[in-house]
Amino acid sequence: MLTTDGLKRKLAEPKQIVITTHHKPDGDALGSSLAMYHWLKAQGHAVTVIVPSDFPPFLNWMPGRPDVRIYLEDQPANDRLIAGADLIFCLDFNGLSRTYAMETAVRDAAGLKIMIDHHLDPEGFDDYRHWDSGAAATAQLVYDFIATVMDDHEAITTDIASCLYAGIVTDTGSFRFQSTTPSVHLIVADLITRGAKNWEIHEAIYNSATENKLRFLGYCLLNRLEVLPEYRTAFFSVSREDLERFQVGTGDTEGLVNQALSISGTKLAALIIDRTEQVKLSLRSVGDFPCNEVCKTHFNGGGHRNAAGGHSNEPLEQVVARFKAILPEYKALLLS
Ligand code: 5GP
Ligand code: MN
Repeated sequence: MLTTDGLKRKLAEPKQIVITTHHKPDGDALGSSLAMYHWLKAQGHAVTVIVPSDFPPFLNWMPGRPDVRIYLEDQPANDRLIAGADLIFCLDFNGLSRTYAMETAVRDAAGLKIMIDHHLDPEGFDDYRHWDSGAAATAQLVYDFIATVMDDHEAITTDIASCLYAGIVTDTGSFRFQSTTPSVHLIVADLITRGAKNWEIHEAIYNSATENKLRFLGYCLLNRLEVLPEYRTAFFSVSREDLERFQVGTGDTEGLVNQALSISGTKLAALIIDRTEQVKLSLRSVGDFPCNEVCKTHFNGGGHRNAAGGHSNEPLEQVVARFKAILPEYKALLLS
């Protein structure tokens, strides 16, 4: 393992650096990556952000967005960048399988892997970690890494602050979740002081829906929501035809699962979607219900206690049936 002093010594000389994050980057994944990108570039390093897949258009406003490379769009060149990197920053994930198509390239790369993350159960691929599963967002840890670990608080520019703000606002559900501690608010206050325009960022992220997205939401609320009060559970199941009918794009289903959780008394909510490759599940809970355990045990996934995901290669109907069939096993927890 690399020590903090060892990492500081490495970063004292110009390096070739790749930053990557998880498949289908969200606000925290992209915000953390671009904040780190701006900070490392300002230190004189040659830095590239390579992400495993596309991401929602409501993140396109982020400073540095035009420089982001999507792995499969030019795999040979991206493989060369990954193989040639002295350091690889792995942000907002802690198992390499979360980088999907990039997994082998990153795993085989000789560069030192710096993991900054807040998910449970790190796989252990990293050479250095700044990890705290209690953090509200990876962006909070990136702030902490730059300001405290690297002792470079003054280097947090408006661009960095804006990217970090986006990461924190999205991963805390706009400062709603239990993870939103006083120190998160203090960090956010500092980010706004440093020029992050909170109202503009909220507009860009939350008021940029297409008409289709809104109609899809209405359709799901009316036709695709199943409520099981006996298990304090509510879930949506969305078919491939639904996605085609409303031309649902990356990010258009974000937030949908929380609608189910908003029903009074609901402890567990799920969104089960038939994506082209496989069926994807998103689970959300309130209180002590462990979404991550359910996803890990039954749906090849994981995540946090109150927000987790997984996937299955079975047909949608079968995944839905299996989801309903496991609820009795968790009845005591759901009703407690
Ligand atoms: P979402 O439901 O938004 O896709 O994911 C919710 C949380 O669960 C995120 O923190 C995400 O990192 C995690 N997660 C989603 N899908 C998977 C998965 O397939 N495996 C693991 N380990 N975590 C996942
Ligand atoms: Mn995150």
